[in-house]
Amino acid sequence: MPTDIHAFIAGRFEQFISDLETLVNIDSASDNLAGIEAVARVLMPRLEAIGFSTRLERLGERGVPCLLAFNSAEDEASDIMLLGHMDTVFPTGEAARRPFAVEGGRATGPGVCDMQGGLLVALHVLEALHHEGVLDPLRIRVCFNGDEEVGSASSRKWIETHARSSRRVFVFEPCRPGHRFVLQRKGGGGYRIVARGRAAHAGVEPEKGANTAVEIAHQVVAVQRFNEYAEAGISAHVTVLHSGEKTNIIPDNAQASVDVRVARKSQVEIAEAFFRSLPDSTHVPGVTLSVSGGVGRPPMEADEKTRQLWSLIEDQAVKMGLTISSVSTGGCSDGNFSSALGIPTIDGMGPVGANAHRRDEYVELSSIVPQIQLIASVCQSLARPASL
Ligand SMILES: [Zn+2]
Repeated sequence: MPTDIHAFIAGRFEQFISDLETLVNIDSASDNLAGIEAVARVLMPRLEAIGFSTRLERLGERGVPCLLAFNSAEDEASDIMLLGHMDTVFPTGEAARRPFAVEGGRATGPGVCDMQGGLLVALHVLEALHHEGVLDPLRIRVCFNGDEEVGSASSRKWIETHARSSRRVFVFEPCRPGHRFVLQRKGGGGYRIVARGRAAHAGVEPEKGANTAVEIAHQVVAVQRFNEYAEAGISAHVTVLHSGEKTNIIPDNAQASVDVRVARKSQVEIAEAFFRSLPDSTHVPGVTLSVSGGVGRPPMEADEKTRQLWSLIEDQAVKMGLTISSVSTGGCSDGNFSSALGIPTIDGMGPVGANAHRRDEYVELSSIVPQIQLIASVCQSLARPASL
């Protein structure tokens, strides 16, 4: 009965806080592979104790530690994939400078909500299901990577492979204040516009130069105007600019970096077409343009199957008397990859928290137990044969 499992979860709040202290106080910056592995080494025996086979994979040239765990045969399709990342944005030494702390109803420390707290919600859900004897009917696949904060270059294929073998994906990024889950995320990427021209002395013979700074200025305006006429959901913003070396020389090189976001898959092509067309319309004679980059992360869209899964979660929340809602955000997560494959993906499964990537990042302590209870109930409902 759900009430039993809920009581068990409520009774383990102190255990959760102690686990959170352990993980937050391990430095696990994306470049600290030993630290990321140390996080995995805390989680692995706990998963093994409840019947999971675990494996620490080392992916890509850097050998990024990624944790894989199954409670059924590896080649069997999973009912649910639990997706998270073990790396944080904070440099090594941050945990000693700013260790885990609890004050005023909040937990703080590096990565507390993004996403050590989320990893533990996933673990505690599984431990509760196991304790109540309801884990076995569910085939669960746990995938925790170690390079999400640097774009998941080494783990993207690994995530996509496991997502393809899963019927649905829960992502344990933080739940937003007000208990808001994430159903839609923009896709993102970037372009670099490089101008090549001709240098000349700016005072003696400027007419012999081809000024790339002027050309890039025109392109900056063109990119900004693209926001005005492109359909809603696409944005393109020039962020980093560079041109020239010396103040008295017409610059023969200049470049602009552009951050691009798209809300729908179809908009990837619109952005691509716009940026690829820029070299065809230069303004300064003698200057040529080249464009590189692209929209690497596809958008996470809430399709029909995702909406069905969401209404199932809402039903469970109503039964618990919990008010939840959903948001869309401009930020990307690894949920963008699974969603783009057409697999129903719900993000924001971690505890409620905010200010990710900042020193004032926090988790709301009061959200921890209800979040684990809710997700455990959702998992139980998915185990029934009549589920989605
Ligand atoms: Zn995150």
